[in-house]
Amino acid sequence: MDYLGCDAYEKSINSLGSGVAFMAKFGDEDFIVAKDIPDFKGDAIGDGKIKAPLTHENASVMRKLFTHTAPSRVLGKDRSFGVGDRLGIATYGHIKLFEEYDAYPVFAQQSIRELTLTNRTYEDVLDAVTFAVFREGFKKEWGADGDHLKTAKDVEYALSLGYTMITLDCSEHIKPAPSTRAASLPSSYNAKYMGKKFDIGEGINLSFTEAELGDCIAIYGEAIDFASGMYKQFLGNGKYSADFEISIDETDSPTTPLQHYFVARELIDAGVSFATMAPRFCGEFQKGIDYKGDLAQFEKEIKIHAVIARHFKYKLSIHSGSDKFSTFPSIGKETKGIFHIKTAGTNWLEAMRTVAVVDPLLYREIHEYALSSAFEEAKKYYHVTTDLNKIPDIKTIADNELPLLFNNNDSRQLIHITYGLILSKKNPDGSFTFKDKLCKLWKTHSDLYTQALVRHIGKHLDLLGIKKI
Ligand code: ZN
Repeated sequence: MDYLGCDAYEKSINSLGSGVAFMAKFGDEDFIVAKDIPDFKGDAIGDGKIKAPLTHENASVMRKLFTHTAPSRVLGKDRSFGVGDRLGIATYGHIKLFEEYDAYPVFAQQSIRELTLTNRTYEDVLDAVTFAVFREGFKKEWGADGDHLKTAKDVEYALSLGYTMITLDCSEHIKPAPSTRAASLPSSYNAKYMGKKFDIGEGINLSFTEAELGDCIAIYGEAIDFASGMYKQFLGNGKYSADFEISIDETDSPTTPLQHYFVARELIDAGVSFATMAPRFCGEFQKGIDYKGDLAQFEKEIKIHAVIARHFKYKLSIHSGSDKFSTFPSIGKETKGIFHIKTAGTNWLEAMRTVAVVDPLLYREIHEYALSSAFEEAKKYYHVTTDLNKIPDIKTIADNELPLLFNNNDSRQLIHITYGLILSKKNPDGSFTFKDKLCKLWKTHSDLYTQALVRHIGKHLDLLGIKKI
């Protein structure tokens, strides 16, 4: 719309005192326009107006002046949902969804691994969301998650920028189950756990054998110390205010309900306050495809995990939630609609599905590259059981059938795990092979990408039983 002589985004218009700020299009680029608000840095364009570029500095100003563009702590809400946007373009689609559904989004959610693979920073991830939220006038609270952080340095990096959630990845401190038993257990644990029945409500009692308790201590003891140390260093002392998530999911063996109880109990007794815990569930939560494993066993175990979380008053967090459609109804039911779910890769896959729809030639080039070398390299970072032989030969597929590749688990994973290599591949002259073309395409076809996200992430929300507002 025409506003103060600019091509403004209507929902972005915000007044502040006697001034006003909004987002407007200049050519095909977006800028902030501020009238009588001197805080933004940019060029004066007359009539008291400043045309300010979408820089980190201006994003910081925006978060201070317009608090809906700053992240909030949302893990305490009944339903929260993480949508990692690796490209910085998906928030427009995510906003459309979360305006409709009764859940709070965590729009900014990246791990250090994802930052490295996409050559981004936490500043950039947060700023992209801030500008999208401002442009679309999204007024609900939303979160920013420093995902899968493993070191004090990374935790402080995210917190110092205002991230409102820290997911502490304890995996490097989780030990394999011991092959030999210690002669005796530390007496403090013995007195606390042995010969007792723990009534966690809803008709469930837990009790430990000596062997089970010994395993808990050996496997999780160091991880518990690590988590409580990090909590005390950054959050318990009030240095920063953020939600704390304990992630014990990135291990080879599942977290048994007893182990879950033990970790939670020890952390709480150590004074650690956390909003969510992500156990490693039975079966496999591989990236970007549905659950693999015994669904009946999963349903049995999620029930006990959910009761433990309710007993201690935190939420279960489900990681690698992309496309785990067969598990969603039981997650929704057993948690009584109180959970945190994380997705990331599926948002990237929808972006690539959009490429297959609008530029088959470019999609074919990327697919060939992923097959020829990128996949082998990417497998170092991700655990997948992809069978490349099950991917149909792309040369035999008609253009209009290319998008159907995204219904095939093996080709989903091929494109899912190679995102970093696809985005960073360069030509001999130093220019990007795919990245610039892709970004241009996504910009031109942003409506199509938004529709794809609304449909696909919407399916996640529906199956979890999240109601529309
Ligand atoms: Zn995880």
